[in-house]
Amino acid sequence: MSDIIKIENVSFEYIQEGLQSKALDDINLNIKKGEFVVVIGHNGSGKSTLSKHLNAILKPTKGNIFIKEMNTKDDSKLWNIRQTAGMVFQNPDNQIVATVVEEDVAFGPENLGIDPSEIKKRVEKSLKSVGMYELKNKAPHLLSGGQKQRVAIAGIIAMKPDCIVFDEPTAMLDPSGRKEVINTIKKLNKKDNITIIHITHFMEEAVDADRIIVMEKGKVVMQGAPREIFVKVEKLKELGLDVPFMTELAYELRKEGIDIDSDILTVDEMVMNLCQ
Ligand code: ADP
Ligand code: MG
Repeated sequence: MSDIIKIENVSFEYIQEGLQSKALDDINLNIKKGEFVVVIGHNGSGKSTLSKHLNAILKPTKGNIFIKEMNTKDDSKLWNIRQTAGMVFQNPDNQIVATVVEEDVAFGPENLGIDPSEIKKRVEKSLKSVGMYELKNKAPHLLSGGQKQRVAIAGIIAMKPDCIVFDEPTAMLDPSGRKEVINTIKKLNKKDNITIIHITHFMEEAVDADRIIVMEKGKVVMQGAPREIFVKVEKLKELGLDVPFMTELAYELRKEGIDIDSDILTVDEMVMNLCQ
């Protein structure tokens, strides 16, 4: 599979009141088309700064980022880059602009100058894809957090992105809203083959990723399949990170001398292991 995102020797410094602070420190990463990548890391490790580089909200101080071979520093490609790599943020209220759900979803494609009949088709398809079609005439402020976030996602899908970057989209939601959103994200990846970069601090959301990237102080400090990452419980704790609940439980049981695999991720695996 080809690389849809290439991050080459990227460093980034914020300049505030004349002071420079390094938020990204020589990052190298390639992301394949169709890949589901989860990014974890302590507060302030640079996750949001990295995500904003993927649709050219921020540009590297050093190094280059290519989205489908387009350099994010090339201003003539800006709209093409933003249409290719959509972004969904933490707070759904900040992302909704219209007073009716379907108008909100139409907003992005309208800005791309797309034909009205085509917009209508895209809005319908996008709302169906996130399970919000029945509520298309509702006012967004009457929706739950999870529903609002799904409308925000529909607005991005309507621009037909190859890739969507989610920056803690579930952080402000209750457990049921979180589940709605995470299931929507998984479906976009599996069914529509959209490349996903999902930043989260809920480790359970990382279990099904193709790859987990761990950030610390602006660097990528670990990466690998969920099982390879979460088995390193102590290293993750050093970085101030949790592991999925079942992995933690297996870790504690092993400490008590119980013979159980150390790389357990889910309840099913725990049950299988204990009943062997
Ligand atoms: P994360 O998303 O992992 O919590 P961020 O990317 O938001 O991390 O922040 C990385 C570093 O950059 C932190 O030290 C943070 O204080 C700093 N930072 C973030 N945004 C700004 C900003 N707008 N101006 C100055 N420094 C910032
Ligand atoms: Mg952040």
